[in-house]
Amino acid sequence: MVRSIQIDEAGQVRAWLEACSRPEVEAAIDGIHREIARVIHEVGPHCLASGNCCRFEAHGHRLYATGLEVARCVTICREEGRHITPEDIESAVLEGNCPWQDGRLCTAREGRPTGCRVYFCDPRLQDLVPELAENAHREVRAIHERFHVPYAYGEWRTMLREIMEQNPFVTAPPATSGRLAVPGSSRPRGLVDLRILVGK
Ligand code: SF4
Repeated sequence: MVRSIQIDEAGQVRAWLEACSRPEVEAAIDGIHREIARVIHEVGPHCLASGNCCRFEAHGHRLYATGLEVARCVTICREEGRHITPEDIESAVLEGNCPWQDGRLCTAREGRPTGCRVYFCDPRLQDLVPELAENAHREVRAIHERFHVPYAYGEWRTMLREIMEQNPFVTAPPATSGRLAVPGSSRPRGLVDLRILVGK
C-alpha cells in the first residue's frame, strides 16, 4: 500500500535543497546512478524513445521519488536553464506526463531521479525493473539517513507542486547556480504504482 506523503514545512524543503548541494551527497547519489547505468548497459534494453515511460496516466504507471531526488532535479534543471513553473506542473498533471517532457524526450537527463533511470518498457526487463527500482530506492533512502536529511517519498508532480508552494526559491527565475524536483498524491484508480511493482 502506497501512502501519499505530506511535506511538512518549508524547513524540510530547505534541508533537501541544501543537502543536494553538498558534494558528498552528490557523490553518493552519483554512485547509485552509475551503478544503475552499468547494469542497464549490460542488459542493453531496446528503447525507441517513444516517450511513453513519461506519460504516466496513459500507460498506467507512476513515478515516485524522495525529497532529496526532487530537490536535486529541480536545482540541476535551474542551473541548466530548464526551470519549471507551477503552471508547468499543472499542465503536466492535466496532460498526464512530466513537466520536463518535451515531445518524446526528457529535458532533465542529468537531474532525473532513480525511478526514471531504471524504467524501460522493454518486456525483457519486466523482472529487472522492479528489482532495480527497489534497490535504488533503498540506497537513496540510506543516503537520507546517512546525511541526516529528512525523508519523504511521494508522487513526482505532487512533490514538485508542494515544494514550489512552500519555497519561493524554486519559483524564482533561474539563478547562476543552485539545486531541486518530484511524485505523489492520491493514486487514481487503474494506475499501477511502481512501489507496488517493486513490492514495497
Ligand atoms: S524527469 Fe525526464 S525521464 Fe523522468 S519523467 Fe520527467 S521527462 Fe521523463
